Amino acid sequence: MSNARDPHPASFEPDTLDRLISEIVAPAAEEIDRSGTFPREALEALGQAGLLGLISSPDVGGLGESHRAATLVVERLAAACASTAMVVCMHYAGTAVIEAHGQPAVREAIARGKHLTTLAFSEQGSRSHFWAPTSTAIQAESGVRLDARKSWITSAGQADSYVWSSRPLAAEGQSTTWLVPADTAGLTIPFQFDGMGLRGNHSSPVTAEGVSVPTENMLGADGDGFNVMMGIVLPYFQLMNAGFSVGTMEAATTKAIQHVTGTKFEHLSQSLADLPTIRAYLSRMRIKTDMCRALLLDTLAALEGGREDAMLRVLEVKAAAGEASTEVTDLAMRVCGGAAFRKEVGVERHFRDARAATVMAPTTDVLYDFIGKAVCGIPLFG
Ligand SMILES: Cc1cc2nc3c(=O)[nH]c(=O)nc-3n(C[C@H](O)[C@H](O)[C@H](O)COP(=O)(O)OP(=O)(O)OC[C@H]3O[C@@H](n4cnc5c(N)ncnc54)[C@H](O)[C@@H]3O)c2cc1C
Repeated sequence: MSNARDPHPASFEPDTLDRLISEIVAPAAEEIDRSGTFPREALEALGQAGLLGLISSPDVGGLGESHRAATLVVERLAAACASTAMVVCMHYAGTAVIEAHGQPAVREAIARGKHLTTLAFSEQGSRSHFWAPTSTAIQAESGVRLDARKSWITSAGQADSYVWSSRPLAAEGQSTTWLVPADTAGLTIPFQFDGMGLRGNHSSPVTAEGVSVPTENMLGADGDGFNVMMGIVLPYFQLMNAGFSVGTMEAATTKAIQHVTGTKFEHLSQSLADLPTIRAYLSRMRIKTDMCRALLLDTLAALEGGREDAMLRVLEVKAAAGEASTEVTDLAMRVCGGAAFRKEVGVERHFRDARAATVMAPTTDVLYDFIGKAVCGIPLFG
């Protein structure tokens, strides 16, 4: 039921998502990829449908969903438009922190679909080691002064706020998190994103020089950023990023099957699918996609059920799905032949988009190190 303040549906309706994807997200995907345009129309439609408030509490007008629904939304979006999916993924990751520690006004704006947020963790100094920011927060007369060289922020210059990390203000610990309104004076974008994939997600660097925010914009306690990152952001991000990879694999596999079953060697009266080699590659693609979806569902079950292996699964799932998606999209390029090298088959976009997941922090290689330590009983940090 809707109320007067919030015209959105009060529950998550996957059919609404599917309709928006087929009417708005999918038709725009090729042009977003070609021109690098930010997916504004899709975000406005998702916001109006309540989907930007998916994980916001019903107390502030949100749909009150959690990891499972967020993962599903990102997976389905990624199958149509990876840029839109990653913008939404980062919005949910930031929203999770704001829901836990933010002020009511911004939480309500997110729930109403009027506020887009994102994560600003990665820095030029500590690179993919996002848990160790080198940027600073200093108490000033007028508030807190932030200085930083952020290396990648999805939706840079497009989002309304950044969930920002810095060294602590005064406390012990590795970091503190902040809500930084995107229009704060002192924030600049040194150059615009022009990536090989995810071309519409505007993942540009952002520099902060003498940026001033009120002390109340601290998200969580001073020095507690590590717990915010690992306890709140990590499970959401790992699951959604794995969903992103599964959606990408699913789309590439579907398009490859369509191409090989519909493409003929006329002189032989055979289709590409009549070649056992092609069918074997398709089989590998299908198996890898299904294995990753099964692991993703098991990770969700482990988290929701409070299972002992939940954190191990959370670490595994992004590494497994991210790597598999690079293999599956590579196979899609192979089975579709030279035709795949051009745009019309559609798999080369997924091939390019898939590569981001492996280097988004925690990167696959860092996850391999964490998982190796976890199974050997060695502390992950330290
Ligand atoms: C499309 C895209 C969107 C992004 N969006 C955001 C965002 O919204 N917010 C945000 O905060 N960040 C974002 N990032 C940044 C991302 O999370 C990583 O921080 C970034 O991709 C790391 O790149 P780098 O060049 O700094 O890697 P580097 O840290 O220089 O790593 C280089 C290589 O070294 C490996 N490596 C590093 N440390 C170890 C280790 N300990 N063991 C083994 N191997 C290691 C890495 O795996 C990698 O292969 C985004 C990145 C991309 C590509």
